Formats: sequence, structure tokens, C-alpha cells
Amino acid sequence: MAEPTALDLRADVVALTAALVDIPSESRHEARLADLVQAALAAEDHLEVTRVRNNVVARTVLGRDSRVLIGGHLDTVPSAGNLPHHFDGAELFGLGSCDMKGGVAVMLHAAAALTRPDRDVTYVFYECEEIEETANGLRHLAETSPELLAADFAVLMEPSNAQIEAGCQGTLRAVVTTHGRRSHSARAWMGHNAVHEAAEILNRLAAYEPAEVEIDGLTYREGLNAVGIQGGIAGNVIPDRCEVTVNYRFAPDQDIPAAKRHVEEIFEGFPVAFVDEAPGALPGLTVPAAREFISVIGRPPAPKFGWTDVARFAALGIPAVNYGPGDPAFAHAPDEHVPVEQIRACAGTVTSWLS
Ligand SMILES: [Zn+2]
Repeated sequence: MAEPTALDLRADVVALTAALVDIPSESRHEARLADLVQAALAAEDHLEVTRVRNNVVARTVLGRDSRVLIGGHLDTVPSAGNLPHHFDGAELFGLGSCDMKGGVAVMLHAAAALTRPDRDVTYVFYECEEIEETANGLRHLAETSPELLAADFAVLMEPSNAQIEAGCQGTLRAVVTTHGRRSHSARAWMGHNAVHEAAEILNRLAAYEPAEVEIDGLTYREGLNAVGIQGGIAGNVIPDRCEVTVNYRFAPDQDIPAAKRHVEEIFEGFPVAFVDEAPGALPGLTVPAAREFISVIGRPPAPKFGWTDVARFAALGIPAVNYGPGDPAFAHAPDEHVPVEQIRACAGTVTSWLS
């Protein structure tokens, strides 16, 4: 099947999703899709369009007293042989259908349909969400042109089964180390076994009771877990070192320093080295734009446990939620798909919210 050569923003939103799926856009290869998105949006008189690398920002400039931002990434993970798209019953299958070309189609549909929205709207299409954080297009915009991201409230159209997922938990990884003394295993009493010593770390993890934290009526479930363990030198050596890697997922009312202090307290007596961290994001459901959005959807929001780019908006002082078509459990899967009816539901919600 030939790839589309232009995007028709007034086509049916499901057909638009299918067209987007058929334009490959693996991370770092978004240029062609970004070109088509830019060209289609630039043809709309009511939008001001800016391109920064393969990031496309389209804004209404109506002088409204509030502005909302709707964001979505253009890239996908590498193909799993799941192109072009196909339909099976009420589902649209294909690479990126769920994560997140259904959401991108909703954005493009809304951008064309909402010529006089009741709030100003900024649509942000960005590159490189699926790869290392330093390449992330939203991060690049935040660093180089933060004025393009200015808004009172942001909706990220990541797959969330067409319901609002608010905030996101923070995450950090730490390596907890035990030290012993090496010796021949035939004379174990001459040494001190660092792997045995790790039992105490594992005991503390097993006994740990993760907190459930309520914020804005949402319950965030934390977690502290071993995600790796490394130790041992040879089959006849008492090991002198063992490393347990732990991952702490924490509710967004805790900042990184507080989360680190907590982990250090749990593993008191052991050296703890932090290797990776990302802050959470408070749900921010109390701002007026968020309250209106929730009332249009008519279903209570759910907490977001994974980390997403909503935290980036939180860092800019912009409350943000995830809301998009598709079950996130199918993101990145070879049988990735999105329910057609969820694409339509999201398109209807976004347009009636801002009409
Ligand atoms: Zn995604």
C-alpha cells in the first residue's frame, strides 16, 4: 500500500488514524510525518505554526484569557512487522495505532475543527518520546522555546482507555551494596560472604509495606522492589561484594530528595548509590480547565502509576493529565491496536470541551 502524500484533517478521524499509522515514524525518523503534519496545519488560517527540529507547534491566537495545551508524540517504537494498518472488527491494528497515532489523529482533527475554540489552544506534536530522555522533543522545546509551551493546563494524548489519568508517580533506582572478605570456599571461615549479607537487604524489601497516598481524591500505590541482583566471582570463591538494584516508585507528593532520604533510611547501614531518577507530577485537578475537562468526560479520573511526559509539564508549573484512545497494555506490542470507538469518543470529548 502506498503511503499517504498529504493528510486530510477533515477526513473521518478513524481514517486519519489509519493514514498516520501508514506513515512510518520510528524515533529519529519522524521528519516525513512532521512535514505532513506541518503542511496540513499551516493550511489552516486560524493556526500559527512553528517547527523546531521535528517538533510542530500549532497555536490559536484569539486572545482568550486561558490557554490549554494538547500534546502527543509523533514517533513509534521499531516495527514488529505490523504495517500497514488493518481493521479487525471494531479495532484498528498497526504499529503506533495505540501509542499514539490514535491520539495524534484526535489532535489533528480537533486542530482543524476548532476554528474558534473558547480557550486558546496549543497543539504540540513532538519527536523522540520512545527513546532516551535526552532526545525527547518536548524536553528540547522546554529548554529552547518554553514560551511555545505556555499554558494553564495540558492534556497529553497518551493511551489511557479514553479516561483521564492524572499526575504520575516518581521513580528512582538505587544500588545497595554489601561488602565481605574474599577467600577460597574450601576455607570459608577465612572470608565473609557478601551474598549472604544481601539477605538483610532482601528481608527489608520483603517486610516493606508500600504506602498508599491520597492526593486530590486519587490513591497512588507506591512500590519498593528489587529489580536486579549481582554477586559472585567463581565457583570456588567466597564473594566479597554483592549489589542489589532497587526501584522506588513514589507518589507525586514526594520530591526526589525526600524519596532518596526514604530509601537511605530503609537501607540504613548499607552504602546506597542512586543511578537514575525522575520526579513525579501532582494531578493538578483543581484548576478550572481541568475541572471542566473532567465534567465533559463524566467519569472520575484514575491515578497514573507509570512515568510519562506529564511530569515535564509539572516541572514547568503546568498541571497536566493523560487522556487518549487505546489500552496502554497494547502499546509496543506486535498486536498493537486501538478501539475505533475510543478514537471517536476522544475526538468528541476534546471538541465539545473546547467549543
Ligand atoms: Zn506514547
